[in-house]
Amino acid sequence: MKTIRNASDLAINGAPPAFPEPIHVGRPNLGDRERLLAYTAEIYDRRWLTNNGPLVQELERRLADFLGVKHCVAMCNGTVALEIAIRALGLEGEVIIPSYTFIATAHALHWQAITPVFADIDPSTHNLDPDSVRRMITPRTTGIIGVHLWGRPAPIEPLQAIADEHGLALMFDAAHAFGCSHGGRKIGGFGRCEVFSFHATKVFNTFEGGAVTTDDDELAEALRLMRNFGFKGYDNVVYPGTNGKMPEINAALGLVNLESLPRFVNHNRRRYQDYAEALSPLGHLRLLQYRSDQQPNYQYVVVELDRSVAGLRDKIVAALQAENILARKYFWPGCHRMEPYRSLFPHAGLLLPVTEDIASRVIVLPTGNTLPPACPAVCAAVLKSSRDC
Ligand SMILES: *Cc1c(COP(=O)(O)O)cnc(C)c1O
Repeated sequence: MKTIRNASDLAINGAPPAFPEPIHVGRPNLGDRERLLAYTAEIYDRRWLTNNGPLVQELERRLADFLGVKHCVAMCNGTVALEIAIRALGLEGEVIIPSYTFIATAHALHWQAITPVFADIDPSTHNLDPDSVRRMITPRTTGIIGVHLWGRPAPIEPLQAIADEHGLALMFDAAHAFGCSHGGRKIGGFGRCEVFSFHATKVFNTFEGGAVTTDDDELAEALRLMRNFGFKGYDNVVYPGTNGKMPEINAALGLVNLESLPRFVNHNRRRYQDYAEALSPLGHLRLLQYRSDQQPNYQYVVVELDRSVAGLRDKIVAALQAENILARKYFWPGCHRMEPYRSLFPHAGLLLPVTEDIASRVIVLPTGNTLPPACPAVCAAVLKSSRDC
């Protein structure tokens, strides 16, 4: 592998790339192949492919157990899980969410004619700022969706206090926070319910998939009905519903990957430490830290450039990509600057100064259980040299 000493060693300036193959943010973590094939044979023999099959039921039991929550309702993906959770909670009118999140958080509301109202974030955590949430409450507000961004818990207690004070439902988009904890309790049991994504790019995946977790029996029953067209037994529809069911093959990969989760997280933790060490001499950026009292899954390696070099962000990302390190600008430019929200709320950015600032300076670097061990050091060398390329 080449050594990057200065800008002339960079691929963006004509040198060969550091890595022969592209290294993606969110390359899937995969557990044991033979176990998946054994489950697949079982599915074939049973000919039970979907509709709450035995593997889905087993995965739900194991996930509920792992997360320390009473109910886990598996779904076909995280976005449908969000939509169903929003519906089951009876949200309407306006719901407050961060703009600094994946677009699905906003779309899950807009898709059912609910207005997402974007609140600003705390610059030190990238999570919702409770004071901003308070300022966004109107007579039409019915709920708050906190997002545990990067696997760092949202400000759960302050948001719960606001929700209680104003009679709002609080739920969480926990798509980034599988296996993370807050105050010694696993994410999954906070608010009225929490929503996970098991998309291929997440730390724990089922190809596509998701789940809603809750301790509320009635809510769990509503979620299960809505997931399956509202069917309660044969020929008896008691609820409006959609199709949010998880197929058996997805549950099979879930069971396999759940066994390997400790290995995935350990691996991510070590790569995160490598990044922390490699990046620490660089004065023009900061690696987002995790709090030691909040167990993270180290799924995201998030770098914030100093304001003095923010204008170089696109050039730095291009330099990394030229080395085949496919760094990303998550979640630039913020949901409020994407359609349809940009047209619906053209002035939303005026109330989101921190979101706009952070989104303009962030770079997300690759990690995961196939990351080449040299990647953190190469990233650091590129980040150092690309300042003056
Ligand atoms: C991935 C993700 C989703 C959507 O999940 P899918 O399973 O891809 O539908 C929602 N919210 C956040 C924050 C995400 O990162």
